[in-house]
Amino acid sequence: MSKGKKKVLVVGAGFGGLTVSALLAHKGWDVTILEKNSTPGGRARVWEKDEYLFDMGPSWYLMPEVFEEYFRLFGKERKDYYELEKLDPYYQVIFGNGERVTITPDLEQTLRTFESFEAGGAKRLQEYLSQAQYKYEVAMRDFLYRDYRTVWDFLNRKLLIEGSRLGVFFSLDRFVGKYFKDHRAKKILEYAMVFLGASPKNTPGLYSIMSHVDMNLGVYYPKGGIHSIVRGLVKLCEEQGVRFLYDTEVKSILVRDGKVMGVRAPQGDMEADKVVVNADYSHAELDLLPEECRTFSLSYWEKAVWAPSMFIAYLGLNRRIPSLSHHNLYFSDAWDDHFHSIFQDPKWSEDPSFYLSCPSRTDPLVAPKDGENLFFLIPVAPGLPDHDEFRESYFQRMMDKVEGILGEKIRPYLRVKRIYSQKDFRSDYHAFKGTALGLSHTLRQTAIFRPPRRSRKVKGLYYTGQYPHPGVGVPSVFICSVITAEGMEKDVREEAGSA
Ligand SMILES: Cc1cc2nc3c(=O)[nH]c(=O)nc-3n(C[C@H](O)[C@H](O)[C@H](O)COP(=O)(O)OP(=O)(O)OC[C@H]3O[C@@H](n4cnc5c(N)ncnc54)[C@H](O)[C@@H]3O)c2cc1C
Repeated sequence: MSKGKKKVLVVGAGFGGLTVSALLAHKGWDVTILEKNSTPGGRARVWEKDEYLFDMGPSWYLMPEVFEEYFRLFGKERKDYYELEKLDPYYQVIFGNGERVTITPDLEQTLRTFESFEAGGAKRLQEYLSQAQYKYEVAMRDFLYRDYRTVWDFLNRKLLIEGSRLGVFFSLDRFVGKYFKDHRAKKILEYAMVFLGASPKNTPGLYSIMSHVDMNLGVYYPKGGIHSIVRGLVKLCEEQGVRFLYDTEVKSILVRDGKVMGVRAPQGDMEADKVVVNADYSHAELDLLPEECRTFSLSYWEKAVWAPSMFIAYLGLNRRIPSLSHHNLYFSDAWDDHFHSIFQDPKWSEDPSFYLSCPSRTDPLVAPKDGENLFFLIPVAPGLPDHDEFRESYFQRMMDKVEGILGEKIRPYLRVKRIYSQKDFRSDYHAFKGTALGLSHTLRQTAIFRPPRRSRKVKGLYYTGQYPHPGVGVPSVFICSVITAEGMEKDVREEAGSA
C-alpha cells in the first residue's frame, strides 16, 4: 500500500512487540504498536502500590549476552538503557526437609555441594556442565537464531548426526538420571524446566543447557527490576520513531484475497503493509482472524501441551526477612506429584514446589526502607477453576506452609497484597486456559514444531514473542524478534525482486 516507508502495525507491547518494533523502525519501517493494556511490558508489567514496586512476571535475568547483542544491533550499548548486577548468591534452594543450599558464582562451592549430595558428585557435575556448555554453544551457533521454514531446515544432517549427543531425542529427566541419583542434585538440574513451561519428563535433554545458563553464565538483575528493561526498550523504540497506542485492543486482523490489509481497532480500521502479532498466538488465530485464514484449527490449540498457569501473590511487608535471598526456590518432597498435577491430572497441588522472590534483599528501590518485597509463585495446571474465595483459602494454606518452611511469620507484617492467577492471565493477555507461558517445550513443540512466524494462510502476517521458535523466556523472545525482523526484511526484498 504505502509508496514511502513500509507501514507495519504491531499488536502488543510485550517484550516481543517492543523488540521487533525497534528493529523494524531501525531498518526504516514506519511502526505503530497497538497495546490493549495501558502500560507496556505485557507479562513483564509492573504493579506499584504504597512504595512497593512489583515486577508482575519475569524476575530472572539469564543469558546476558543475548541482551548485549540485541542493543549492539543498533550500535548501542545495553548499559545506556539499564544497569545490571550479578547476583551473589544466584539463588537459594530449600528442600522439603528444611535443608538449605545456595548456588553462587563460586563454582568450586557448587561442586562441593554436589559432592556432599553423593560421592563423585563434583566430578559428575563438571562433566554435566561441560556437556551443557557444548550444547549451549552449538544451539547458539546453529539452532537458536534460525528461521525454520520447512521441516528440512530442522531435520538437517547436523541435527541427525548430533541429535543424540545434543539430547534431542530423550527426556531431560532420563538424561539427568544418567549422572545423578540424589534427588537434591536432580532437582537443582531440572527446576529450570518450569521457566520453559515444561516438565523434566517431557522436555528434551537438550535443555540441560539451562544449567550452563544459570551455573556458568550466571544470574543477573537489572537495577530497579526487570521493568527497567521494558523502560529501556520503550526509550529505544522512541529513539527509532516507533509510535505507541495504549488502551487500544485490536478486535480483528483485516485480510483481503489472502493478504493482510491492517487491523480493526476501537478508533477504526488502520491500514498497513504488514502486521506483526505479539499477542498470544491462539488469541490472534481464534479471536482476530476469520476461520479460513487460520493456520491452525481450534483442535490444534485444544490438543497442544500448554505451559502452566501460575498462582502468584505480590506481598509488601513492613519488616525484613534476612533468611531470604533475592531468589529462593522451595523443592517439595512431592516434586513428581506436583508436576503430575500440572501436566497429567490437572488440580491445585496441596504440597507444591514454589518460587519466592525477594528483590528488596538486593534492591532498595522496590520496597520502603525496613520493608520487604515478596513475589510468591506456584506453577499450576492451566484451565483450573479460579474464583476469589478459593484463591483466598488457597493463599492462606500456602502461607501456612511458607511460614512453616521459613520459620518466620509473614502475614502479621503484610501491608500490601494482591493475588494474580488464571483468570487474570485470561483477561489481561487473552491467554488460552489462563496459561502464563504459552506452549510448553516438548520435543513436538520445539524449533520447527512451534507455531510458524509467518502465517501459512495470510501473506504479510507475522508473529513474534514466546510462541514461535525459540520460545518461552525473555532472552528467547529477544531472539525471536531478531529472526522475525530479519525474515520480514528478506521477504520484502524477495517480493521486490519478483515484482
Ligand atoms: C509469572 C511469570 C514469570 C516469568 N519468569 C520469567 C523469568 O524469570 N525469566 C524469563 O526469562 N522469563 C520469565 N517468564 C516468561 C516471560 O515473561 C515471557 O516469555 C515473555 O515476557 C513473553 O513476552 P511476549 O512479548 O511474548 O508476550 P506478552 O508479554 O504476553 O505480550 C503480549 C502483549 O500483547 C497484548 N495483547 C494481547 N491481545 C491484544 C490485542 N487484541 N490487542 C492489543 N494488544 C494485545 C498483551 O496485553 C501483551 O502486552 C515469566 C512469565 C511469567 C508470566
